[in-house]
Amino acid sequence: MLEAQFLDEIEKSGPLPQSQFMEKALQTYYQNHIALGKDFTTAPEVNQVFGELIGLWLLDVYQQLGCPKKISLVELGPGKGTLMADVLRIAKMVPAFYDALEVYLVEFSPLLKSLQKKTISHPSMKWLEKIEDLPSSSTPLLVVANEFLDALPTTYYFRKNNELYERCVGAKEGKVCFQFKYLCQNQGPETLWEESVAVKNLIESLCKRLKKQMGAFLCLDYGYEKGGGDTLQALVEGHPVDPLSHIGDADISCHVNFGHLRDLVLKEGLKAWGPLPQGTFLKNLHIKERIERLKKANPSQKGPLEAAYTRLTHPSQMGLLFKAFAITFPISLKPIGFDNEN
Ligand code: SAH
Repeated sequence: MLEAQFLDEIEKSGPLPQSQFMEKALQTYYQNHIALGKDFTTAPEVNQVFGELIGLWLLDVYQQLGCPKKISLVELGPGKGTLMADVLRIAKMVPAFYDALEVYLVEFSPLLKSLQKKTISHPSMKWLEKIEDLPSSSTPLLVVANEFLDALPTTYYFRKNNELYERCVGAKEGKVCFQFKYLCQNQGPETLWEESVAVKNLIESLCKRLKKQMGAFLCLDYGYEKGGGDTLQALVEGHPVDPLSHIGDADISCHVNFGHLRDLVLKEGLKAWGPLPQGTFLKNLHIKERIERLKKANPSQKGPLEAAYTRLTHPSQMGLLFKAFAITFPISLKPIGFDNEN
């Protein structure tokens, strides 16, 4: 049991920073669970329309880049492979685009990889353990990530009486528990905040690649632009549980700090788009019209299609909490869907 391993490690080396706890717990989780649809349902799993609209978004970027002969398409954390399968179905309708693609799937779970092998098919497909393994190249780059950044390890800081603490996972009476570890003196009001070195490194490396190769990164995830607080959460079969219970058997995640992402992108000299509520983004991509067309073609699917539309776009469901965020280069590139921005 993972909790016993954690207790052993804590006894030997002291409390673990929250980021290390998340990393280890999630590796075990994704290696042993086909969680999607059971512990949580992601947007591509709700309806094919989601992935098809992302496919159109990517196609538009490819066209704005002048339809290059080769273009790398990377998905970070493809889960069951549904999003990429839907994207490739759209790509197939434009043979020059489909043939130009070099498809890379960044996935660390052997279990999910084996599932993706069944769902996704493209002659050029390759799997990578991590984004750093993506070969350096001069071909333009399209990177897409749905509910990936939220799974990256996040640190939790707390400042009180001008002293800075980090939240760790320690042990008490044979059970894991949260503890605060003193780090240093730090002037400022009492507050707590989260930071993800993994997200920062990822965004910075993507920015560098995009600057060199041109292209776009599109991610959809839950998160905030300002504020935040303690956002660590755990889900088992759709229900929130204590993040320190069900270790390795619960999906744990943190909200994405999009304000921080935007600052990083601007600092690197690229263009940032969003964060825009997912509902607004999908409506800008004409989800309503697409759903109507599908309803006409499949009248028996009217109910499920309307339910999918509501689930993906309504503010009380995935429409507001989830955000779309994009990075593009060169500066002249204007991706669709972010119409209310410049
Ligand atoms: N994008 C999918 C799945 C989201 S779940 C969807 O929307 O349905 C997160 C996915 O990212 C899983 O496939 C998980 O195995 C993968 N993943 C999480 N952390 C990872 C990491 N550090 N490196 C590589 N893959 C990771």
